[in-house]
Amino acid sequence: MIHSGKNAVVLGLGHSGEAAARLLHEEGARVTVCESNDNPALREKAAGLEAAGISVLLGSAADTDATRYDIGVLSPGIDPAVPLVQNVLRKHVPLIGELELAFEECLCPVVAITGSNGKTTTTELTTAMLTGAGVRTMASGNIGLPFATAVRQSNALDVMVLEVSSFQLETTKTFRPHVAVWLNLSQNHLDRYRAMEEYRTAKLRIFTQQTAEDFAVINARESLPALAARTITFSAHTDAADFTLRGGVISYQGQPVLDQSTIRLQGIHNAENLMAAFGTGLALGVDLDRMAAAVADYTAPAHRCEFVRDFENIHWINDSKATNLDSVEKALLSQQRPVILIAGGKDKGFEFDSVAPLVRERVRAAVLIGEMKDRIARSWPDTDCRITDSLEEAVPIARDLAAPGDVVLFSPGTSSYDMFRNYGERGNRFKDLVNTLTPKNPR
Ligand code: ADP
Repeated sequence: MIHSGKNAVVLGLGHSGEAAARLLHEEGARVTVCESNDNPALREKAAGLEAAGISVLLGSAADTDATRYDIGVLSPGIDPAVPLVQNVLRKHVPLIGELELAFEECLCPVVAITGSNGKTTTTELTTAMLTGAGVRTMASGNIGLPFATAVRQSNALDVMVLEVSSFQLETTKTFRPHVAVWLNLSQNHLDRYRAMEEYRTAKLRIFTQQTAEDFAVINARESLPALAARTITFSAHTDAADFTLRGGVISYQGQPVLDQSTIRLQGIHNAENLMAAFGTGLALGVDLDRMAAAVADYTAPAHRCEFVRDFENIHWINDSKATNLDSVEKALLSQQRPVILIAGGKDKGFEFDSVAPLVRERVRAAVLIGEMKDRIARSWPDTDCRITDSLEEAVPIARDLAAPGDVVLFSPGTSSYDMFRNYGERGNRFKDLVNTLTPKNPR
């Protein structure tokens, strides 16, 4: 209840902003939410908050609000350089993030999972495996359920599993996960960060407050600075790690833990996600065999190398969540058959050159869409690239290009905002298009 009686402002009326406002209000703070946008959906949300006793300013009124607040909560999606944030910083209001706010209230230890790719999968997987082993836990954070909402249940949990993004970590101060998981780091968000180093620095804040009583579960191939926490390492690519992969079997210090061929979660990237989940269990003192048993029926969340349909001997996969090149690479490496790749989307500030050799090797033809389509074609000069205007056109083109036995993989490699509301809408559209394909020459 450290914010009781304070005059608090929440910047941004997204999912986590709303959750933060409600938490602060329950704690006894006087709360105003400031949001630069103004539209009917936001007004409806604002009306709900106002009915609960929380003030809301929308549009330009939010950017010029003259009130002096004691504390501010910045939503993770918002760039600190925008007028909304600068207006509050000019008045020297201390700003924290929703992650920090909820952590202050959390009554159980926290597992925090970060990385450029695999956060959602590993967060879900860890939660499912821990639950199967009898641990009282739930997933929250960047995964959809805000930490500020989930934290109300923390008194009934053994541990909270959190997915944390670099944006959320930017504003932490006391945030100290008992287990911090570092999956991997690859080019991402270069539209927001000036350089890779800035992105890495934000992510490294996950370890800052940890002590020798805590654990860092880290990918052995990443070169990280010296950490205060005890480390548990994993890698699918080297034997110099605590958790390793050999012949499809995940082992801990040489002892087999799980044969990946017996479960549905396939691909080397998922082997690393599984190792990270086991590493977390090890740190928490959980029985690894019980965790392994819990993963038998587990499937990856939607839009992550998700099987859609086998139609006319062509295998269709939806990987709409592939919003950077590392995930495209992993999706391609997971395929056993020739690939027709559908890729492209918003310009996020990186080129597609780095995957060109793998694309040349694995991809029979690429169908390119979105803002980046022409640039991708220039990056892949040795691949048969077809440029088209929409996903609606791309699906039948891919179908015509595919030979029996091929895979059509929709792994865009960048975000969706040029054509869709988000990756979920994009993936669902793809699945609809594939599921409504009909035989060409019905007899
Ligand atoms: P995040 O939450 O970090 O965005 P997701 O679990 O949603 O990660 O997966 C995003 C994309 O990355 C999907 O295309 C998925 O197949 C791929 N992916 C999952 N795990 C990994 C990993 N460990 N390394 C690289 N790519 C991965």
